[in-house]
Amino acid sequence: MRRVYIETYGCQMNVADSELIASILRQAGYQIIPTPEEAEVILLNTCAVREHAEERVIGRASQLSGLRAHTPKLILGILGCMAQHLAETLPQRAPFVDLVMGPDSYRRLPQILAETSEETLLDVRLDREEDYLGIDPIRRQGVNAWVTIMRGCDRFCTFCIVPFVRGRERSVSAGEILRQVRLLAAEGYQEVTLLGQTVNSYSDGQVDFAGLLRAVGQVEGLKRLRFTSPHPADFTIDVIDALAEVPQICPSFHLPLQSGSDAQLERMRRGYTVSQYRALVEELRRRLPGVALTTDLIAGFCGESETDFQQTLDLVGELRFDAAFMFKYSPREGTFAHKKMADDVPEAVKTERLERIIALQEGISWEINQQQVGQTTEVLVEGLSKRQNSHAPTYYGRIPQGKTVVFPQEVAANSLVQVHIERATSHTLFGDLVAA
Ligand code: SF4
Repeated sequence: MRRVYIETYGCQMNVADSELIASILRQAGYQIIPTPEEAEVILLNTCAVREHAEERVIGRASQLSGLRAHTPKLILGILGCMAQHLAETLPQRAPFVDLVMGPDSYRRLPQILAETSEETLLDVRLDREEDYLGIDPIRRQGVNAWVTIMRGCDRFCTFCIVPFVRGRERSVSAGEILRQVRLLAAEGYQEVTLLGQTVNSYSDGQVDFAGLLRAVGQVEGLKRLRFTSPHPADFTIDVIDALAEVPQICPSFHLPLQSGSDAQLERMRRGYTVSQYRALVEELRRRLPGVALTTDLIAGFCGESETDFQQTLDLVGELRFDAAFMFKYSPREGTFAHKKMADDVPEAVKTERLERIIALQEGISWEINQQQVGQTTEVLVEGLSKRQNSHAPTYYGRIPQGKTVVFPQEVAANSLVQVHIERATSHTLFGDLVAA
């Protein structure tokens, strides 16, 4: 049995893809191991969304190639979005890499690993049909299972590399998704997250996203259902109806806003205006009281004036998200913005705007989290908390709104318990278990 070590970078789609890769390789007789030292094959499953991440992966691959002193026949591969994005230049930039493979090629991995070559092996064809039907991912033991329901993206926002590295949108059949969710519920998973680049544009030709949510809600044993990432323009009334109807759906949605300026949304080609976005937030809050909303924001995209940025600050202040992922714009080669738009906001201005928006959002998150203090809420326990202080171990889990709660009592992972919230920071709630 050849031993394989897989290291994953980037978003949850990549984590799910690594589970798929592990399954494909195990079926072909490989053994998946948790550390790189004894591996004969090392695969880095990568992200292309930020340049910084690409530099990190090349550095890591170079470091891992040092293991050839111990394992001369070690095969080192770079897989995923970065492999797709840099296919032409990677063999020169990282000559110690043997294999470069894009996200639609994983079925061919065993066959390609069986071939030996002096040259770097490249397989970066994008395949409009590939949905990895029939492969059950090998999931990490855990509380939440991820189910990929669609791949790729057809939206082509001007700043985004995803449609170029993950290809066009395609959906897994509803029957296959239901088969996987039933299996997971039978295995004891209480929470399932449906994954897709624009998850709510899902359609297999017969069942749309609203229909899928209703069908998954019927699966026996499933306690919590989440999905990520939806696109604001794909929240139809029928989808919102389904969110209100299906009791397992957790009241926590990620709505990437990116900018609060209509001119910037237009330049980004986001497909909605500020007033449409605002109406969506109001409707979700009206239909689902207590819902938590999170977002993505970009500071300093091409053409962003101080007035545009102020509109973003004003909208963030008005809509009061529970949390946000906030970034400075950096151009990605191959995108429309990189080819056709001037990256004309000076770096120092981008940094200053990012700091301003982070300061605003941190304050809002802190205030919203204080409203949880004194309440008792259901927590799905995930395990030992990652950050431990020196006194006693702490445990953590998530409330339906997706926020992390840390508490001192030892409880088995996958238990649903009640926790009384004692205090809160901008990012975390702290509480005590309530006796059953
Ligand atoms: S919707 Fe836009 S930002 Fe999201 S993956 Fe597609 S192109 Fe990228």
